[in-house]
Amino acid sequence: MKNINIIIELLKKESKSWKYPFVSGWQRVVKSPFTTLISCILSLRTKDETTAKASIRLLKEYNSPEKILKLSTKQIEKLIYPVGFYRTKAKRIKEICRVLIEEYNSKVPDTFDELIKLKGVGRKTANIVMTYGHFKNDYLPIDVHCHRIPNRLGWISTKTPEQTEEALKKILPKRYWYDFNELFVRFGQNICVPVSPFCSKCHIRMYCRRVGVKKSR
Ligand code: SF4
Repeated sequence: MKNINIIIELLKKESKSWKYPFVSGWQRVVKSPFTTLISCILSLRTKDETTAKASIRLLKEYNSPEKILKLSTKQIEKLIYPVGFYRTKAKRIKEICRVLIEEYNSKVPDTFDELIKLKGVGRKTANIVMTYGHFKNDYLPIDVHCHRIPNRLGWISTKTPEQTEEALKKILPKRYWYDFNELFVRFGQNICVPVSPFCSKCHIRMYCRRVGVKKSR
């Protein structure tokens, strides 16, 4: 993939002018594996801003498994509302905290295989915790933006985030793995948005095959 380096470097440069998603700002401030894990669970099927506000309400005070376990499920629900599936998530968060205390000495596991054993933790969450919680470079968290944009660019042709993770690991130089998620999430929120992307002001349009793009601005 001969243009991949140029594209990533152009996006990194351009990203300085993009709006910062609130949730990333939050993750930047609180970098513990535990807060990353809980924030990521809150983020599933939830808008970034809602996730960030709920994360702050819950985690600014209750930032350890022990502290969260002192709360009732109803109290957690109240703190995280209106994240999607807040009732299920409240129960799940309590269960995860209990398992972390009983089986992992109150620590968030630092291996991918142990992380996905936790109920409610899938590949994306485990990859995010390994990358942004434990600061490991061998993982590539793929969310909707990271799946959609490389397909639009024509880098890959995949149907699911899991396939995208596998395909990107083969073509994306490893030095970009750590920054890839944040860079593409921000690009996907600011320019290459899901519906009608801003192709007219996109700095990488000369490298883009615009696969599947029917309408743009
Ligand atoms: S040209 Fe359009 S479709 Fe391609 S990356 Fe830019 S915004 Fe996305």
